[in-house]
Amino acid sequence: MSESEARPSNFIRQIIDADLASGKHTSVHTRFPPEPNGYLHIGHAKSICLNFGIAQDYQGQCNLRFDDTNPEKEDIEYVESIKNDVNWLGFKWDGEICYSSDYFDKLYGFAIELINKGLAYIDELSPEQMREYRGTLTEPGKHSPYRDRSVEENLELFEKMKNGEVEEGKMCLRAKIDMASPFMVMRDPVLYRVRFATHHQTGDKWCIYPMYDFTHCISDALEGITHSICTLEFMDNRRLYDWVLENITIDCQPHQYEFSRLNLEYTVMSKRKLNQLVTEKLVDGWDDPRMPTISGLRRRGFTSASIREFCKRIGVTKQDNTIEMSSLESCIRDDLNENAPRAMAVLDPIKVVIENFDADVEMLEVANHPNKPEMGSRQVPFTRELYIEAEDFREEANKKYKRLVLGKEVRLRGAYVIKAERIEKDEAGNVTTIYCTYDNETLGQNPTDGRKVKGVIHWVSADAGVPAEIRLYDRLFTVPNPGAADDFVSVINPESLTVMNGFVEPSLVEAEAEQAYQFERMGYFCADNKDSSKEKLVFNRTVGLRDTWAKIAD
Ligand code: ATP
Ligand code: MG
Repeated sequence: MSESEARPSNFIRQIIDADLASGKHTSVHTRFPPEPNGYLHIGHAKSICLNFGIAQDYQGQCNLRFDDTNPEKEDIEYVESIKNDVNWLGFKWDGEICYSSDYFDKLYGFAIELINKGLAYIDELSPEQMREYRGTLTEPGKHSPYRDRSVEENLELFEKMKNGEVEEGKMCLRAKIDMASPFMVMRDPVLYRVRFATHHQTGDKWCIYPMYDFTHCISDALEGITHSICTLEFMDNRRLYDWVLENITIDCQPHQYEFSRLNLEYTVMSKRKLNQLVTEKLVDGWDDPRMPTISGLRRRGFTSASIREFCKRIGVTKQDNTIEMSSLESCIRDDLNENAPRAMAVLDPIKVVIENFDADVEMLEVANHPNKPEMGSRQVPFTRELYIEAEDFREEANKKYKRLVLGKEVRLRGAYVIKAERIEKDEAGNVTTIYCTYDNETLGQNPTDGRKVKGVIHWVSADAGVPAEIRLYDRLFTVPNPGAADDFVSVINPESLTVMNGFVEPSLVEAEAEQAYQFERMGYFCADNKDSSKEKLVFNRTVGLRDTWAKIAD
């Protein structure tokens, strides 16, 4: 698609411009630091486009760093999927992939340094006591009775923790900062805890793991990150970020900047909730086309260009807000309207018999795009028996209905004008077959006697068409902010998936997975990247032709 050419401007880029102008920095180095505890979602795409986009535009560097300090929740499957998704989005990390776990030895050394400086101590309060001692936003906390241990004793106990001689939850290492700080994160935050868990990168080497706030700033400094960009909920943590780096011996002082996270209506973005949808099999995996994950959007038929364009359009600010689903959809619609070849598919078929058509088959040449001749054309078989969309026929209708009506004419897209002569019904009174005649003078032109035929409908040959399962998706939740519901599972939309058994034109047997098509009049579709095969075609509807969200909201 034609991604808008101009570089985006936002407050972070303005800070970078100023830092380069003042000589504070001579180059820019960012990082994208996912925790491998789930698949990436569209919110992560915002962060990826920001961090990698800055590196691209400023000829800087961007690292991909796995923030892997919670071995129990993490998995190598997530590591692989994240690498894959970043690549698919069109970005390349600089150098080797980084892991916070690469720095476990160094982090341990910095913890010892803090202990030696009297700035960290081993606490033995239970988690409940610790909470009680921490105080509240309106009341200062209390000092732990273990706060004033000697350096020697702290070193000895920390060594014991490391050697596996301390049970989980019995001891932890805390920074000694200020139990009366108005910032809760500064009230002697935990730096290390005991976890007897096998780590996906370091195996069983460690049984103590550093906390996020201790790990993140040091990892940034070790990698020479200049601008460490994260979301607003870490604003208070910036104090701790700076405190750690000021109190250890390290010659790099990155700065943290916060921006507002992406929220999208009618979906959830918390990895914990997405994980629950997957483990409770409420969706078909992390890449279910209804999920807001990168892999779900990809499977649904979104292009990476459309996601990058979306991230550009929403911009980067410090204001919390929620974006309408229609903004995301208009990005993919703009892309596919330009770039998707056209094809014909009938989702809910009803049989048409052209009684005066005598040939076996006539191959018609149909353009792949109405205003892009360079996209070429294809052969579409026209036969005596066809399918049209059931909703495109009525026995009676007023003039506004520009489709096929008994006794009237309509044009078949790329083919002839037909007239419905009579119908056949089943016992229940449903129309089963529409018997028609065609006017063989009307291929690519209007009737010669001046008859006006207004409507055009799509069709597929009943003999040569290929059966296909077609999956139509709706929003996954029934309310705009499912995350705010007491039980978000209870507001899942039971009709978020509709499966149709239709027919597609034969050229679509060759459709590559994820290659988008506009099915004439029905929307944009792509072959499912998991379930579709030449033997059993499965198409996903990416998005309809027009915005239907405005209507839904009424
Ligand atoms: P969760 O809290 O659901 O586990 P997370 O924010 O902890 O999500 P990470 O893997 O730590 O997930 O995120 C990696 C990076 O992506 C972080 O810098 C984070 O700030 C950013 N990020 C995560 N969610 C969003 C979002 N919705 N919008 C913008 N950036 C996001
Ligand atoms: Mg996180």
